Parts: sequence; structure tokens; C-alpha cells
Amino acid sequence: MVRYVGVGNMVRLIAAVGFEPYLIGLAGYVEEDFRRWNAFEKVPRVASHSRDGVIELMPTSDGEFYGFKYVNGHPRNTRTGLQTVTAFGVLSDVETGYPCLLSEMTITTALRTAATSAVAAKYLAREDAEVMAIIGLGSQSEFQALAFKAVNGIRRLRVFDIDPTATGKFKANLAPHGFEIEVTASAGAAVLGADIITTVTADKQRATVLSDNMVGAGVHINAVGGDCPGKTELQRAILLRADVFVELTEQTRIEGEIQQMAPDFPVTELWRVIVGEATGRRSPDQITIFDSVGFATEDFSALRYLRDLVEGTDYYEEIDLLTEPKDPRNLFGLLNLAALQPRKVPQAC
Ligand code: NAD
Repeated sequence: MVRYVGVGNMVRLIAAVGFEPYLIGLAGYVEEDFRRWNAFEKVPRVASHSRDGVIELMPTSDGEFYGFKYVNGHPRNTRTGLQTVTAFGVLSDVETGYPCLLSEMTITTALRTAATSAVAAKYLAREDAEVMAIIGLGSQSEFQALAFKAVNGIRRLRVFDIDPTATGKFKANLAPHGFEIEVTASAGAAVLGADIITTVTADKQRATVLSDNMVGAGVHINAVGGDCPGKTELQRAILLRADVFVELTEQTRIEGEIQQMAPDFPVTELWRVIVGEATGRRSPDQITIFDSVGFATEDFSALRYLRDLVEGTDYYEEIDLLTEPKDPRNLFGLLNLAALQPRKVPQAC
């Protein structure tokens, strides 16, 4: 049997743990895995692009466990009542190759993206940062706000979305969470006085959500929405004034804001800052950018965290994803209906 955490159990688990404690715990796992970056197999994700979106597989392994996520990105989906991003993932035992956890990863992607952004900001934003602008108030936005509150202590938000219904939804969802939220009439107004700017819009094009004249000295930009070829949010000139931090350089050069730059445009991998090999913020005036695209180790961290959290609880089901014949070489014998009795085999991991 394989442990399965579906949407219902994920919702119950987060309610039991609490949003902010969940995000703090997850940020800890994400940071821990960045610290052991060299232990992981790392490849840019495998992407299948189509006219309106992309379907991606994101694999990695630390030699003990193997994880992958299936995720899509279809910005037009919301017009027909579907989400832009949906995902599920698997964690397996490397020694036997047996999967041990299958999980929903749509909620988990939003959580891990937000937790990773908050970890990056811990190293890159000014220590006295108090105000965050959020541009784009869709599915990811509340998770971003909550992670920055839980990990970075940000309580004051200035927000903008081109769609007023998204703004209403964002305000209503965050009403019980203790933020001071100012809704603004434009992206330019949202960034006024902000110490951190999160861009998390969805549009499969080279958009200019932030232009150069909107970005003042000392700001940290958490650029989340530009995460596939042909999809960016920042005007190129901003990148020329900033220090840019990335997850896996070779993947971000294809998918991130830096796809607008020459192939040798200098960037620093975030894990190097976390382990102390590279400097993050050097001065209060420096502009830093976390060019987030989402990397497989972050999903691996999220699956590892989930596996540890559900251990000994009833927040998962056991499903017969795998055949378990009594004689492991008699797969054919299993096709006999009478032989289809559940058999207890050891949990793979
Ligand atoms: P969504 O479709 O739910 O929300 C996007 C929001 O952006 C919508 O409310 C839309 O009205 C708004 N928007 C679009 N253009 C805008 C503009 N110019 N100014 C202001 N608002 C604008 O999408 P989502 O699930 O929240 O995802 C947002 C983006 O984040 C997507 O591009 C997605 O691919 C990306 N993403 C990145 C990561 C990562 O790890 N970096 C992870 C998940 C999602």
C-alpha cells in the first residue's frame, strides 16, 4: 500500500497544524535542503509547452529518496473556471524504487513557493523591511503573504490586481490573519513605500508588471510569476541595477526573468548565500531580486515535510497503487480475482 494525502486530508492537516506554523516548518525543510544542495541530483525540469500553457515534470533525488512533481501552468484556465496551476507528486525509496507517498501538490506548491520566497527574503531583504507590495492576487497570493508574515514578520501589505474580484477575494481570505492591507489603484501605487515587492501575476507573455522607474533603492523583489519561456514580469532595466539570486542557474536562464539577459549575465545561486559561500545583501541601498521559478528540491522538501507530519496520524489513506503479489514473480497470478486479497507489506519509507 502507498500513503496518499489527497486535498481533503491536506486541508485537515493544515487546519490542525495552523497556517503559519505549517509555513514556518516547511521553510525550515526548504532551507535545510538548500544547505545540502550538493547532495541532490539536479536537472532543469522537463517541460512540454503548448499554445496556452505548459506541463512539467520536476524530478530530484538525494540518494536516499527520489521525488517528482507533475505540475501545469495555464494562465487562461481561470476564464473557464479552472486553476492556472495544479499538481501532484511522489516520494520514493531509492533502495527499492517503491513509492511511499503520493500527494496532492496544488496546495503544496503554493505553500512551498511561498516558503521558498520567505527563505530567500530572510537572506536578501533589508532587516528593517516592514511593508510588502503584492502585484497579482490570484491563487498564490495569500500563501505568499502568510509566509512573509510567519517567517519575516511582514504585516503591512500594499496590493494590486487588474481584476477587482481577485482583490476582494484576497482581502476576505486574509481578514482573520492580522494584516494591515491597503488596496491600490495601480502597480505603481502599490510599490510606493514598499520594502519588498512580490510580483505574482499570470500571463504567458513578456509583461511589464514592474518598470524601472517604479523600483527604488534598497528594495527586495520577489519575482514569482515569470516562470517559463516567454513569460516575464520585470522590465529588463531593473535587472541591470540589481543583484539577481536564483535557484538552479541553468533552469532559471530558460524560465526566469533572466531569460531577457545575455547567457553570461551574472547571478548567484541562493543556496550559496544560505551556506555562507556568497554574500546576499551588501548594503541598504542595494536592489536584490529573487528570480523564483520553482525548483525540484523545494517540492522534495515539501514531500519530506509532509511524510514526517503525517507519520502516526490519520491524515492519509492507504491506496493500492502498487501490485503486491505473494510471490513477487507471479504478477500474472494476481489477475485471478480470488487472489486479490490485501496483503500487508512493509512501508517502503
Ligand atoms: P492566478 O491565475 O490564480 O492569479 C494571477 C493573478 O494575476 C490574477 O488575479 C490576475 O488578474 C493577475 N494579473 C495578471 N496580470 C496582471 C497585471 N499586469 N497586474 C496585476 N495583476 C495581474 O495564478 P497563480 O496560481 O496565482 O500564479 C501566478 C503566477 O505564479 C503564474 O504565472 C504561475 O505560473 C506562477 N507560479 C510560480 C511559482 C514559482 O515557483 N515561481 C509557483 C507557482 C506559480
